[in-house]
Amino acid sequence: MIENRVAIVTGASRGIGNAIAVKLASEGCAIVAVGTSEEGKAAANLDAIRAFNTPFAYVQADVSTAADRQRIVDCALDRFGRIDILVNNAGVAPKTRMDILETTEESMDRVLGINLKSTFFLSQSVANIMRREVGEIAGISPKIVNMSSISAYTSSTMRAEYCISKAAISMVTQLFADRLADEGINVYEIRPGIINTDMTSVVKDKYDALIADGLTPIKRWGQPEDVANAVSVVCSGMLNFSTGEVINVDGGFHIRRL
Ligand code: NAP
Repeated sequence: MIENRVAIVTGASRGIGNAIAVKLASEGCAIVAVGTSEEGKAAANLDAIRAFNTPFAYVQADVSTAADRQRIVDCALDRFGRIDILVNNAGVAPKTRMDILETTEESMDRVLGINLKSTFFLSQSVANIMRREVGEIAGISPKIVNMSSISAYTSSTMRAEYCISKAAISMVTQLFADRLADEGINVYEIRPGIINTDMTSVVKDKYDALIADGLTPIKRWGQPEDVANAVSVVCSGMLNFSTGEVINVDGGFHIRRL
């Protein structure tokens, strides 16, 4: 078993998850990076994680399937012998934005499967490993971090299934935080606003205009590194008397204004 903290980061092949994995690697964590892409296709982004020379593994896996989630957990234990941090970051928007009066059961199943079901069941299986580790590894202080969104409380009627998945992740966070507090495991929700990634590239012009018009008190796009820094803080132990906490990384979007 290695001495470094070991972090599983889902959706680490691109965007926010990649920035999180880079940040945690820069702090000495061994990284199990997860994405659906072939390793070669994500090579440049994965090299940015490897650049810190901490132990590294990539698992090509679909987090919405149970067998793939098991491979992720097995990889972490087989290669590194422990799990200190789970970042449930992998997520998708609907393939097509459809009005709530038109959206399909297929799209609902896809978005809830990848965003929500994976977060719940990966948390469940990793939590059972972490609670054993708390009794076995001196000084371990495991953390689970879930990626929700301002969509957890902001209606977008053209992507209801996404909003529903993110609202539910808020409750998943509360539930696991409650259940795991006595086990020595803290659970956090990171709630990003408008972040500059592939996911938002399709609506870039719309958000450029909204941000310029004052949608967010801090008038700029969020960067993946802004979110990665928040994950770093909750994993640092500096917030160890806080669990079930929501960290908004949104330029102040959540502030009600007159
Ligand atoms: P992104 O650039 O589209 O990247 C998504 C990541 O998730 C990729 O690494 C992708 O891997 C992975 N992924 C997708 N489906 C997967 C699956 N079935 N199994 C495993 N991995 C899968 O998205 P992002 O903007 O970084 O978003 C990351 C998270 O932040 C998501 O949960 C998103 O909802 C949330 N978020 C984003 C924003 C924003 O403004 N960008 C705002 C709030 C919340 P492959 O490319 O290898 O398939």
